[in-house]
Amino acid sequence: MKASHPLSPEVRFSDDDPDLSRDYWNPERETLPPERMAALQLAKLKTQLAYLEQHSELYRRRFAASGFRTADLRTLEDLAALPFTTKTELREAQEQAPPFGLHQAAPMDRIVRITSTAGTTGRPVFQGYTRDDTLRRSESIARGLWGFGVRPGDRVINGFALSMFNAGIPFCAAIEHLGALDVPVGAERKAEGMLKMAKEVKATVWIGTPSFAAYLAEKCEEVLGIPPSELGLRVICGGGESGFELPAFQKRMEQAFGTRHVYDWASTSDAHPNVFAHCKHRNGKHQLTPDFALVQLIDPQSGQLKPMHDGAEGEYIFTHLDRQACGLVRYRTGDILRVQTSPCPCGRTGFRMDIIGRSDDMLLVRGVNLFPSALQSVVGRFSPKAAGRMQVVLPQPGPKVEPPLKLRVEHAEGLGVADLAELKKSLESTIRADLSVTAEVQLVPAGALGRTETKTRLIVIEAA
Ligand SMILES: [Zn+2]
Repeated sequence: MKASHPLSPEVRFSDDDPDLSRDYWNPERETLPPERMAALQLAKLKTQLAYLEQHSELYRRRFAASGFRTADLRTLEDLAALPFTTKTELREAQEQAPPFGLHQAAPMDRIVRITSTAGTTGRPVFQGYTRDDTLRRSESIARGLWGFGVRPGDRVINGFALSMFNAGIPFCAAIEHLGALDVPVGAERKAEGMLKMAKEVKATVWIGTPSFAAYLAEKCEEVLGIPPSELGLRVICGGGESGFELPAFQKRMEQAFGTRHVYDWASTSDAHPNVFAHCKHRNGKHQLTPDFALVQLIDPQSGQLKPMHDGAEGEYIFTHLDRQACGLVRYRTGDILRVQTSPCPCGRTGFRMDIIGRSDDMLLVRGVNLFPSALQSVVGRFSPKAAGRMQVVLPQPGPKVEPPLKLRVEHAEGLGVADLAELKKSLESTIRADLSVTAEVQLVPAGALGRTETKTRLIVIEAA
């Protein structure tokens, strides 16, 4: 029986279409020609801004202060008449009106879920969701998982941290929404508990951070007495940090788990339900939700909008198009993207992107702009001799750095003195040739930069 729901076709349900061989979760929205998507975005944007003006104290004040009238909005670019919203402002808005802040636009009795950012760099920022918000969140995640090949019948281990985290319970809800079996193990169970559960329930899909995936592969034999390739996991995917987008890391995970299906995922806690995910071609991550969030590029220094053409680079900002509880306008994510707009063989029409850095991670080495991710991709090419992890060591906070740029790189076990000297020399000369930067590499044993469930910090400050 075909389910009918007032939100269709924006939110589909697993029984809306019994054809499991179809390529897309939501064929209509994922393949809409760009000009028709832009028209849909503009129509939704007008409704959303009018809604915020009526219900959100923060945005009502902002619109008034900038003389902005929703009725005057003619193009998506006209939105640039409004100021940015920043993380610092969200924190302040939440201190003044806890827990959700002055931008809250739905009444408390309509909000059914709260999540929060990790708060590693200050007070955590909360996100609230109405029931419709949670449905669109599930829809957005289902689009990504479907593209990875996840189907009803799959048993999906959620290996992200579950407590309060956006990839925790909301991800579990989305797995159920898609019609697959949600196995909410969570990073809290640690590697041993997760491996045992994967074997017990015959899991077919695993999602979590790349460092956790690598750790599971390493511990599998010890915990279960079998290599990870015998676990039966068909899809390994996730995000939260750099890893799954790097070809060298993908290859390592493919070999370890014995599958071709290793995929990357990206979002920003405040941006939900916006989702970027690989399709099976892994040629950049598609924006799968242009109908839920308008993504625009800006120059991080000047704040000016940049055209989103093939190869364009810039910080991405987003504006929610139908968020009820905590909609944001022109929110600065700090993520620097490189965009691809050429057609993808999968037929999805949303632009594709790679995150090339954070606006606050950008380094300036004698006039050369450099993101740690660029160093990481050079290091990745030296796999398996370089074990994959690296760290930039600065004597004081950037962006200005005096060369040589100090870099710690993990090396594989079992390399002799001559091998190590050769590896250091090749790394330094390749970095100089490819990135025009003089680097001084210090090789450290595999695992020295941390390899468990935690993220490796790409930049550390250590006074000399
Ligand atoms: Zn594609």
